[in-house]
Amino acid sequence: MEKKYYTTIGLEVHAELDTVTKMFCSCKNDPDEERPNWNICPICMAHPGTMPVPNKKAIESVIRVGLAINGNIADFTEFDRKNYFYPDIPKGYQITQFKYPMVSGGELAGVKITRIHLEEDTGTNKHPGGDYSLVDFNRAGVPLMELVTEPVIHSAKDAGNFGRELQLLLQYLGVSKANMEKGEMRVELNISVSADPVKFGTKVEVKNINSFRAVERAAEYEIERMTELLESVRGEEIVQETRGWDENKQITFSQRKKENSNDYRYFPDPDITKFKLSEIFNNADLKNNLPELPSAKRIRYAEKYCIKAEDIESYVTTPELAHWFEAVADILNDKEKIRIASNYITSDLLGLQKVNLEAKLPKAGNFAELIDMVISSKINSRSAKDILAMIVLVDDSPMKIATEKDLLQKNDEGALKEIAQKIINANPKVVADYKGGKETAIMGLVGAIMKETKGSANPALARQLLIDLLK
Ligand code: ADP
Ligand code: ZN
Ligand code: MG
Repeated sequence: MEKKYYTTIGLEVHAELDTVTKMFCSCKNDPDEERPNWNICPICMAHPGTMPVPNKKAIESVIRVGLAINGNIADFTEFDRKNYFYPDIPKGYQITQFKYPMVSGGELAGVKITRIHLEEDTGTNKHPGGDYSLVDFNRAGVPLMELVTEPVIHSAKDAGNFGRELQLLLQYLGVSKANMEKGEMRVELNISVSADPVKFGTKVEVKNINSFRAVERAAEYEIERMTELLESVRGEEIVQETRGWDENKQITFSQRKKENSNDYRYFPDPDITKFKLSEIFNNADLKNNLPELPSAKRIRYAEKYCIKAEDIESYVTTPELAHWFEAVADILNDKEKIRIASNYITSDLLGLQKVNLEAKLPKAGNFAELIDMVISSKINSRSAKDILAMIVLVDDSPMKIATEKDLLQKNDEGALKEIAQKIINANPKVVADYKGGKETAIMGLVGAIMKETKGSANPALARQLLIDLLK
Protein backbone atom coordinates (compact mmCIF):
# COMPACT_ATOMS: atom_id res chain seq x y z
CA MET A 1 0.00 0.00 0.00
CA GLU A 2 1.27 3.44 -0.96
CA LYS A 3 2.19 5.46 2.07
CA LYS A 4 0.81 8.98 2.17
CA TYR A 5 2.87 12.04 2.99
CA TYR A 6 1.75 15.53 3.85
CA THR A 7 3.55 18.57 2.48
CA THR A 8 3.59 21.86 4.35
CA ILE A 9 4.95 25.07 2.89
CA GLY A 10 5.36 28.59 4.26
CA LEU A 11 6.89 31.41 2.25
CA GLU A 12 9.03 34.36 3.24
CA VAL A 13 8.97 36.98 0.52
CA HIS A 14 11.18 40.07 0.28
CA ALA A 15 10.28 42.92 -2.04
CA GLU A 16 12.32 46.04 -2.72
CA LEU A 17 10.08 49.06 -2.40
CA ASP A 18 10.00 51.40 -5.34
CA THR A 19 10.79 54.62 -3.47
CA VAL A 20 12.79 57.61 -4.66
CA THR A 21 15.30 57.42 -1.80
CA LYS A 22 16.68 54.75 0.51
CA MET A 23 15.13 53.67 3.80
CA PHE A 24 17.09 55.83 6.25
CA CYS A 25 19.02 58.38 4.17
CA SER A 26 18.49 60.55 1.10
CA CYS A 27 20.60 58.44 -1.27
CA LYS A 28 18.83 57.53 -4.50
CA ASN A 29 17.13 54.14 -4.58
CA ASP A 30 18.09 53.21 -8.11
CA PRO A 31 18.30 49.49 -8.93
CA ASP A 32 19.58 50.34 -12.42
CA GLU A 33 22.64 52.28 -11.26
CA GLU A 34 25.61 50.42 -12.69
CA ARG A 35 28.44 52.53 -11.26
CA PRO A 36 29.39 50.66 -8.05
CA ASN A 37 29.15 52.54 -4.75
CA TRP A 38 27.63 55.59 -6.43
CA ASN A 39 24.48 55.95 -4.34
CA ILE A 40 26.03 55.80 -0.89
CA CYS A 41 26.53 58.23 1.99
CA PRO A 42 27.82 58.20 5.57
CA ILE A 43 24.38 57.14 6.86
CA CYS A 44 23.90 54.01 4.76
CA MET A 45 27.61 53.28 5.22
CA ALA A 46 27.05 53.44 8.99
CA HIS A 47 29.77 55.92 9.77
CA PRO A 48 29.92 56.65 13.50
CA GLY A 49 27.75 59.53 14.61
CA THR A 50 25.29 59.39 11.69
CA MET A 51 21.58 59.19 12.38
CA PRO A 52 19.09 57.21 10.29
CA VAL A 53 15.79 58.93 9.42
CA PRO A 54 12.97 56.57 8.32
CA ASN A 55 11.42 56.97 4.87
CA LYS A 56 7.73 57.87 5.27
CA LYS A 57 6.79 56.66 1.79
CA ALA A 58 8.24 53.21 2.52
CA ILE A 59 6.22 52.95 5.73
CA GLU A 60 3.09 54.05 3.87
CA SER A 61 3.73 51.42 1.18
CA VAL A 62 3.80 48.62 3.74
CA ILE A 63 0.62 49.91 5.36
CA ARG A 64 -1.09 49.93 1.95
CA VAL A 65 -0.04 46.31 1.32
CA GLY A 66 -1.34 45.47 4.80
CA LEU A 67 -4.68 47.12 4.07
CA ALA A 68 -4.93 45.34 0.71
CA ILE A 69 -4.64 41.93 2.40
CA ASN A 70 -6.97 42.92 5.25
CA GLY A 71 -4.21 42.66 7.81
CA ASN A 72 -4.07 44.45 11.14
CA ILE A 73 -2.04 47.62 10.94
CA ALA A 74 0.02 48.09 14.07
CA ASP A 75 -0.64 51.18 16.11
CA PHE A 76 2.83 51.02 17.65
CA THR A 77 5.89 50.02 15.74
CA GLU A 78 9.66 50.23 16.09
CA PHE A 79 12.83 49.18 14.32
CA ASP A 80 15.33 46.67 15.66
CA ARG A 81 18.92 45.77 14.97
CA LYS A 82 19.63 42.25 13.77
CA ASN A 83 23.31 41.67 14.45
CA TYR A 84 25.46 39.56 12.18
CA PHE A 85 28.64 39.90 10.18
CA TYR A 86 28.75 39.62 6.43
CA PRO A 87 30.70 41.76 3.94
CA ASP A 88 27.56 43.11 2.26
CA ILE A 89 26.21 44.59 5.50
CA PRO A 90 28.20 47.72 6.28
CA LYS A 91 26.80 48.33 9.76
CA GLY A 92 27.44 44.89 11.20
CA TYR A 93 23.70 44.75 11.71
CA GLN A 94 20.59 45.07 9.62
CA ILE A 95 17.81 47.44 10.63
CA THR A 96 14.63 45.39 10.60
CA GLN A 97 11.53 44.84 12.74
CA PHE A 98 11.34 42.00 15.19
CA LYS A 99 8.78 42.32 17.94
CA TYR A 100 6.46 44.93 16.44
CA PRO A 101 5.92 44.28 12.72
CA MET A 102 3.85 46.93 10.95
CA VAL A 103 1.27 44.39 9.77
CA SER A 104 0.06 41.17 11.32
CA GLY A 105 -2.54 38.75 9.99
CA GLY A 106 -4.39 39.07 6.72
CA GLU A 107 -4.96 36.81 3.78
CA LEU A 108 -4.03 36.59 0.11
CA ALA A 109 -5.07 33.96 -2.44
CA GLY A 110 -6.43 31.77 0.34
CA VAL A 111 -3.12 31.88 2.26
CA LYS A 112 -3.01 33.29 5.79
CA ILE A 113 -0.36 35.92 6.29
CA THR A 114 1.65 35.97 9.52
CA ARG A 115 3.23 39.41 9.26
CA ILE A 116 4.72 42.08 7.07
CA HIS A 117 7.59 44.18 8.28
CA LEU A 118 9.99 46.73 6.91
CA GLU A 119 13.76 46.47 6.83
CA GLU A 120 16.75 47.56 4.77
CA ASP A 121 18.38 45.65 1.95
CA THR A 122 22.04 44.62 1.95
CA GLY A 123 24.74 45.50 -0.57
CA THR A 124 25.79 42.99 -3.22
CA ASN A 125 28.96 40.94 -3.31
CA LYS A 126 30.64 40.56 -6.69
CA HIS A 127 33.01 37.76 -7.54
CA PRO A 128 34.89 38.85 -10.65
CA GLY A 129 37.16 35.81 -10.48
CA GLY A 130 40.59 35.57 -8.97
CA ASP A 131 41.25 35.47 -5.24
CA TYR A 132 39.19 38.47 -4.22
CA SER A 133 35.59 39.72 -4.09
CA LEU A 134 34.14 43.21 -4.40
CA VAL A 135 31.23 44.80 -2.59
CA ASP A 136 28.79 47.28 -4.11
CA PHE A 137 26.74 49.17 -1.51
CA ASN A 138 24.31 50.89 -3.91
CA ARG A 139 21.59 48.54 -2.70
CA ALA A 140 22.54 48.77 0.99
CA GLY A 141 19.77 50.57 2.83
CA VAL A 142 17.13 50.24 0.11
CA PRO A 143 13.70 49.74 1.73
CA LEU A 144 12.76 46.12 1.75
CA MET A 145 9.45 44.71 2.87
CA GLU A 146 9.27 41.16 4.16
CA LEU A 147 6.04 39.19 4.13
CA VAL A 148 5.81 35.88 5.96
CA THR A 149 3.00 33.38 5.40
CA GLU A 150 1.65 30.84 7.81
CA PRO A 151 2.59 27.21 7.04
CA VAL A 152 -0.69 26.60 5.21
CA ILE A 153 0.36 25.92 1.63
CA HIS A 154 0.27 22.26 0.63
CA SER A 155 1.53 21.96 -2.92
CA ALA A 156 4.31 23.23 -5.16
CA LYS A 157 1.76 24.70 -7.54
CA ASP A 158 -0.02 26.66 -4.80
CA ALA A 159 3.32 28.03 -3.60
CA GLY A 160 4.11 29.31 -7.10
CA ASN A 161 0.63 30.76 -7.48
CA PHE A 162 0.82 32.59 -4.17
CA GLY A 163 4.06 34.20 -5.34
CA ARG A 164 2.47 35.27 -8.63
CA GLU A 165 -0.54 36.71 -6.84
CA LEU A 166 1.63 38.67 -4.42
CA GLN A 167 3.74 40.03 -7.27
CA LEU A 168 0.59 41.17 -9.05
CA LEU A 169 -0.72 42.83 -5.89
CA LEU A 170 2.55 44.73 -5.31
CA GLN A 171 2.52 45.89 -8.92
CA TYR A 172 -1.15 46.99 -8.75
CA LEU A 173 -0.37 48.95 -5.60
CA GLY A 174 2.69 50.43 -7.30
CA VAL A 175 4.80 49.73 -4.23
CA SER A 176 7.38 47.52 -5.96
CA LYS A 177 8.33 46.52 -9.49
CA ALA A 178 8.65 43.05 -7.94
CA ASN A 179 10.67 41.61 -10.81
CA MET A 180 11.94 38.19 -9.66
CA GLU A 181 14.72 37.93 -12.25
CA LYS A 182 16.11 41.31 -11.12
CA GLY A 183 15.93 40.29 -7.46
CA GLU A 184 13.36 43.01 -6.70
CA MET A 185 11.21 40.21 -5.29
CA ARG A 186 12.83 37.21 -3.61
CA VAL A 187 11.01 34.13 -2.40
CA GLU A 188 12.32 31.82 0.29
CA LEU A 189 10.63 28.47 0.48
CA ASN A 190 10.10 26.76 3.84
CA ILE A 191 9.00 23.21 3.35
CA SER A 192 8.47 20.03 5.30
CA VAL A 193 7.06 16.61 4.61
CA SER A 194 5.45 14.40 7.24
CA ALA A 195 3.78 11.01 7.41
CA ASP A 196 1.60 12.35 10.21
CA PRO A 197 -1.24 14.64 9.07
CA VAL A 198 -1.33 16.55 12.36
CA LYS A 199 2.39 16.90 13.03
CA PHE A 200 4.75 18.95 10.87
CA GLY A 201 7.94 17.38 9.60
CA THR A 202 11.34 19.02 9.98
CA LYS A 203 11.49 22.07 7.77
CA VAL A 204 14.11 23.09 5.31
CA GLU A 205 14.51 26.60 3.95
CA VAL A 206 15.43 27.02 0.28
CA LYS A 207 17.06 30.23 -1.01
CA ASN A 208 18.39 31.64 -4.33
CA ILE A 209 15.12 31.16 -6.15
CA ASN A 210 14.82 33.41 -9.20
CA SER A 211 11.42 32.70 -10.70
CA PHE A 212 7.98 31.37 -9.76
CA ARG A 213 8.68 28.33 -11.89
CA ALA A 214 11.78 27.75 -9.73
CA VAL A 215 9.64 28.04 -6.57
CA GLU A 216 7.56 25.16 -7.91
CA ARG A 217 10.53 23.12 -9.12
CA ALA A 218 12.40 23.56 -5.83
CA ALA A 219 9.31 22.52 -3.86
CA GLU A 220 8.80 19.45 -6.07
CA TYR A 221 12.46 18.56 -5.66
CA GLU A 222 12.30 18.88 -1.87
CA ILE A 223 9.08 16.86 -1.63
CA GLU A 224 10.73 14.06 -3.52
CA ARG A 225 14.01 14.29 -1.60
CA MET A 226 12.31 14.30 1.82
CA THR A 227 9.85 11.57 0.89
CA GLU A 228 12.76 9.38 -0.13
CA LEU A 229 14.54 10.08 3.15
CA LEU A 230 11.38 9.23 5.11
CA GLU A 231 10.98 6.00 3.19
CA SER A 232 14.60 4.88 3.15
CA VAL A 233 15.33 1.72 5.10
CA ARG A 234 18.09 3.49 6.99
CA GLY A 235 15.44 5.91 8.22
CA GLU A 236 17.78 8.82 7.60
CA GLU A 237 16.71 11.92 9.39
CA ILE A 238 15.84 15.10 7.61
CA VAL A 239 18.01 17.88 9.04
CA GLN A 240 16.79 21.37 9.60
CA GLU A 241 18.95 23.51 7.35
CA THR A 242 19.17 26.19 4.72
CA ARG A 243 19.54 24.87 1.20
CA GLY A 244 20.24 26.65 -2.05
CA TRP A 245 18.48 26.20 -5.38
CA ASP A 246 20.78 25.40 -8.28
CA GLU A 247 18.96 26.64 -11.36
CA ASN A 248 21.31 24.90 -13.81
CA LYS A 249 21.14 21.50 -12.18
CA GLN A 250 17.54 21.97 -10.98
CA ILE A 251 18.43 20.63 -7.55
CA THR A 252 18.78 21.99 -4.02
CA PHE A 253 22.04 21.66 -2.08
CA SER A 254 22.89 22.05 1.58
CA GLN A 255 24.25 25.49 2.53
CA ARG A 256 24.22 25.75 6.30
CA LYS A 257 22.48 24.56 9.39
CA LYS A 258 19.84 27.05 10.43
CA GLU A 259 20.83 29.72 12.91
CA ASN A 260 18.59 30.44 15.86
CA SER A 261 17.01 33.88 16.19
CA ASN A 262 18.81 34.21 19.56
CA ASP A 263 22.08 34.34 17.66
CA TYR A 264 21.12 37.70 16.18
CA ARG A 265 20.73 39.49 19.53
CA TYR A 266 17.85 41.61 18.29
CA PHE A 267 17.27 44.84 20.20
CA PRO A 268 15.39 48.08 19.43
CA ASP A 269 17.54 50.50 17.46
CA PRO A 270 18.25 53.35 19.90
CA ASP A 271 18.84 55.84 17.03
CA ILE A 272 15.37 55.53 15.48
CA THR A 273 12.18 57.03 16.84
CA LYS A 274 9.38 54.68 17.77
CA PHE A 275 6.11 55.25 15.99
CA LYS A 276 2.49 55.63 16.84
CA LEU A 277 1.36 55.01 13.28
CA SER A 278 -2.24 56.14 13.84
CA GLU A 279 -0.94 59.64 14.59
CA ILE A 280 0.86 59.79 11.26
CA PHE A 281 -1.33 57.86 8.83
CA ASN A 282 -5.06 57.72 8.27
CA ASN A 283 -5.67 54.06 7.48
CA ALA A 284 -9.28 54.61 6.41
CA ASP A 285 -8.15 57.19 3.85
CA LEU A 286 -5.35 54.97 2.62
CA LYS A 287 -7.78 52.08 2.30
CA ASN A 288 -10.31 54.17 0.35
CA ASN A 289 -7.59 55.22 -2.04
CA LEU A 290 -6.37 51.72 -2.88
CA PRO A 291 -6.76 50.93 -6.58
CA GLU A 292 -9.02 48.11 -7.72
CA LEU A 293 -7.14 44.96 -6.68
CA PRO A 294 -6.66 41.84 -8.82
CA SER A 295 -9.22 39.81 -6.84
CA ALA A 296 -11.88 42.51 -7.22
CA LYS A 297 -11.11 42.89 -10.90
CA ARG A 298 -11.62 39.15 -11.47
CA ILE A 299 -15.04 39.32 -9.84
CA ARG A 300 -16.09 42.45 -11.71
CA TYR A 301 -15.07 41.03 -15.08
CA ALA A 302 -16.83 37.73 -14.41
CA GLU A 303 -20.03 39.56 -13.50
CA LYS A 304 -19.91 42.17 -16.22
CA TYR A 305 -18.66 40.25 -19.24
CA CYS A 306 -19.44 36.75 -20.53
CA ILE A 307 -15.81 35.90 -21.22
CA LYS A 308 -13.66 32.86 -20.50
CA ALA A 309 -11.75 32.60 -17.21
CA GLU A 310 -8.45 32.50 -19.13
CA ASP A 311 -9.40 35.74 -20.89
CA ILE A 312 -10.11 37.36 -17.54
CA GLU A 313 -6.70 36.21 -16.32
CA SER A 314 -5.02 37.78 -19.37
CA TYR A 315 -6.60 41.12 -18.49
CA VAL A 316 -5.98 40.89 -14.76
CA THR A 317 -2.30 40.18 -15.30
CA THR A 318 -1.88 42.89 -17.97
CA PRO A 319 -3.49 46.11 -16.69
CA GLU A 320 -2.73 48.06 -19.88
CA LEU A 321 -4.58 45.43 -21.92
CA ALA A 322 -7.46 45.41 -19.41
CA HIS A 323 -7.84 49.17 -19.67
CA TRP A 324 -7.97 48.96 -23.46
CA PHE A 325 -10.36 45.98 -23.41
CA GLU A 326 -12.75 47.97 -21.22
CA ALA A 327 -12.68 50.83 -23.71
CA VAL A 328 -13.52 48.35 -26.51
CA ALA A 329 -16.30 46.79 -24.41
CA ASP A 330 -17.79 50.23 -23.68
CA ILE A 331 -18.03 50.96 -27.39
CA LEU A 332 -19.46 47.56 -28.35
CA ASN A 333 -21.85 47.62 -25.39
CA ASP A 334 -23.28 44.15 -26.07
CA LYS A 335 -22.39 40.90 -24.26
CA GLU A 336 -22.19 38.74 -27.36
CA LYS A 337 -20.13 41.29 -29.29
CA ILE A 338 -17.80 41.64 -26.30
CA ARG A 339 -17.41 37.87 -26.08
CA ILE A 340 -16.39 37.69 -29.74
CA ALA A 341 -14.10 40.70 -29.34
CA SER A 342 -12.39 38.99 -26.41
CA ASN A 343 -11.76 35.89 -28.52
CA TYR A 344 -10.07 38.00 -31.17
CA ILE A 345 -8.05 39.79 -28.49
CA THR A 346 -6.75 36.79 -26.57
CA SER A 347 -6.07 34.50 -29.49
CA ASP A 348 -5.38 36.68 -32.52
CA LEU A 349 -4.20 40.01 -31.17
CA LEU A 350 -1.99 38.61 -28.40
CA GLY A 351 -0.68 36.07 -30.92
CA LEU A 352 0.32 38.90 -33.27
CA GLN A 353 2.06 40.70 -30.41
CA LYS A 354 3.99 37.55 -29.61
CA VAL A 355 5.41 37.17 -33.11
CA ASN A 356 5.97 40.87 -33.74
CA LEU A 357 7.19 43.18 -31.00
CA GLU A 358 6.15 46.14 -33.13
CA ALA A 359 2.50 45.11 -32.91
CA LYS A 360 0.62 47.64 -30.77
CA LEU A 361 -2.91 47.91 -29.50
CA PRO A 362 -4.95 49.77 -32.14
CA LYS A 363 -7.38 52.49 -31.12
CA ALA A 364 -10.29 50.93 -29.23
CA GLY A 365 -12.64 52.53 -31.77
CA ASN A 366 -10.90 50.91 -34.72
CA PHE A 367 -10.86 47.51 -33.09
CA ALA A 368 -14.54 47.77 -32.13
CA GLU A 369 -15.35 48.75 -35.72
CA LEU A 370 -13.56 45.61 -36.93
CA ILE A 371 -15.60 43.42 -34.58
CA ASP A 372 -18.83 45.09 -35.70
CA MET A 373 -17.88 44.41 -39.30
CA VAL A 374 -17.33 40.66 -38.76
CA ILE A 375 -20.50 40.31 -36.73
CA SER A 376 -22.60 42.07 -39.37
CA SER A 377 -20.95 39.93 -42.10
CA LYS A 378 -19.45 42.94 -43.82
CA ILE A 379 -16.19 41.02 -43.81
CA ASN A 380 -15.49 37.35 -43.20
CA SER A 381 -13.30 36.10 -40.40
CA ARG A 382 -10.33 35.60 -42.72
CA SER A 383 -10.40 39.26 -43.74
CA ALA A 384 -10.94 40.28 -40.11
CA LYS A 385 -7.70 38.57 -39.16
CA ASP A 386 -5.86 40.12 -42.08
CA ILE A 387 -7.12 43.60 -41.23
CA LEU A 388 -6.25 43.08 -37.57
CA ALA A 389 -2.68 42.19 -38.56
CA MET A 390 -2.56 45.49 -40.46
CA ILE A 391 -4.00 47.79 -37.82
CA VAL A 392 -1.68 46.56 -35.06
CA LEU A 393 1.15 47.93 -37.19
CA VAL A 394 -0.48 50.93 -38.86
CA ASP A 395 -3.57 51.96 -36.96
CA ASP A 396 -6.41 52.87 -39.28
CA SER A 397 -10.14 52.41 -39.82
CA PRO A 398 -10.94 48.78 -40.77
CA MET A 399 -13.85 50.00 -42.90
CA LYS A 400 -11.51 52.20 -44.89
CA ILE A 401 -9.00 49.35 -45.31
CA ALA A 402 -11.68 46.85 -46.32
CA THR A 403 -13.05 49.27 -48.92
CA GLU A 404 -9.62 50.11 -50.32
CA LYS A 405 -8.48 46.49 -50.46
CA ASP A 406 -11.81 45.27 -51.77
CA LEU A 407 -12.35 42.97 -48.79
CA LEU A 408 -15.99 43.79 -48.10
CA GLN A 409 -17.99 40.60 -48.35
CA LYS A 410 -19.91 40.31 -51.55
CA ASN A 411 -23.39 39.83 -50.24
CA ASP A 412 -24.77 41.20 -53.46
CA GLU A 413 -26.61 38.15 -54.81
CA GLY A 414 -26.72 39.35 -58.41
CA ALA A 415 -23.00 39.96 -58.68
CA LEU A 416 -22.13 36.78 -56.81
CA LYS A 417 -24.49 34.71 -58.96
CA GLU A 418 -22.63 35.84 -62.07
CA ILE A 419 -19.31 34.82 -60.55
CA ALA A 420 -20.80 31.45 -59.46
CA GLN A 421 -21.98 30.78 -63.03
CA LYS A 422 -18.53 31.66 -64.34
CA ILE A 423 -16.92 29.21 -61.90
CA ILE A 424 -19.41 26.47 -62.86
CA ASN A 425 -18.61 26.98 -66.54
CA ALA A 426 -14.89 26.84 -65.88
CA ASN A 427 -14.99 23.64 -63.82
CA PRO A 428 -16.99 20.99 -65.70
CA LYS A 429 -15.17 18.09 -64.03
CA VAL A 430 -16.00 19.24 -60.48
CA VAL A 431 -19.57 19.98 -61.53
CA ALA A 432 -19.85 16.45 -62.93
CA ASP A 433 -18.55 14.99 -59.67
CA TYR A 434 -21.12 16.97 -57.72
CA LYS A 435 -23.97 15.97 -60.01
CA GLY A 436 -22.76 12.37 -59.78
CA GLY A 437 -23.51 12.45 -56.05
CA LYS A 438 -20.24 13.66 -54.55
CA GLU A 439 -21.71 16.46 -52.44
CA THR A 440 -18.40 17.59 -50.99
CA ALA A 441 -17.28 18.59 -54.48
CA ILE A 442 -19.23 21.80 -54.03
CA MET A 443 -16.67 23.03 -51.53
CA GLY A 444 -14.13 23.09 -54.35
CA LEU A 445 -16.41 25.46 -56.22
CA VAL A 446 -16.96 27.64 -53.15
CA GLY A 447 -13.17 27.77 -52.80
CA ALA A 448 -12.84 28.91 -56.40
CA ILE A 449 -15.39 31.68 -55.79
CA MET A 450 -13.51 32.79 -52.69
CA LYS A 451 -10.31 32.91 -54.69
CA GLU A 452 -11.97 34.81 -57.52
CA THR A 453 -13.31 37.39 -55.03
CA LYS A 454 -10.05 37.58 -53.04
CA GLY A 455 -11.81 36.12 -50.04
CA SER A 456 -14.51 38.75 -49.94
CA ALA A 457 -17.49 36.58 -50.90
CA ASN A 458 -19.83 35.44 -48.16
CA PRO A 459 -19.06 31.70 -48.31
CA ALA A 460 -22.48 30.61 -47.04
CA LEU A 461 -24.23 32.68 -49.68
CA ALA A 462 -21.84 31.43 -52.40
CA ARG A 463 -22.60 27.84 -51.48
CA GLN A 464 -26.35 28.38 -51.57
CA LEU A 465 -26.13 30.09 -54.98
CA LEU A 466 -24.11 27.16 -56.37
CA ILE A 467 -26.64 24.63 -55.09
CA ASP A 468 -29.47 26.59 -56.68
CA LEU A 469 -27.64 26.98 -59.99
CA LEU A 470 -26.77 23.27 -60.13
CA LYS A 471 -30.27 22.02 -59.40
P1 ADP B 1 12.20 30.32 11.73
O1 ADP B 1 12.19 30.73 13.15
O2 ADP B 1 12.99 29.10 11.45
O3 ADP B 1 12.49 31.44 10.80
P2 ADP B 1 9.40 30.69 11.50
O4 ADP B 1 8.51 30.11 12.49
O5 ADP B 1 9.74 32.13 11.60
O6 ADP B 1 10.72 29.84 11.44
O7 ADP B 1 8.77 30.43 10.08
C1 ADP B 1 9.42 30.80 8.92
C2 ADP B 1 8.58 30.32 7.76
O8 ADP B 1 8.53 28.90 7.75
C3 ADP B 1 7.14 30.75 7.81
O9 ADP B 1 6.73 31.09 6.48
C4 ADP B 1 6.40 29.54 8.29
O10 ADP B 1 5.09 29.49 7.75
C5 ADP B 1 7.21 28.42 7.72
N1 ADP B 1 7.18 27.19 8.50
C6 ADP B 1 7.26 27.05 9.84
N2 ADP B 1 7.24 25.76 10.19
C7 ADP B 1 7.16 25.04 9.03
C8 ADP B 1 7.09 23.64 8.72
N3 ADP B 1 7.18 22.71 9.63
N4 ADP B 1 6.98 23.31 7.41
C9 ADP B 1 6.95 24.24 6.46
N5 ADP B 1 7.00 25.55 6.69
C10 ADP B 1 7.11 25.96 7.97
ZN1 ZN C 1 22.88 56.80 1.98
MG1 MG D 1 11.71 33.48 10.91
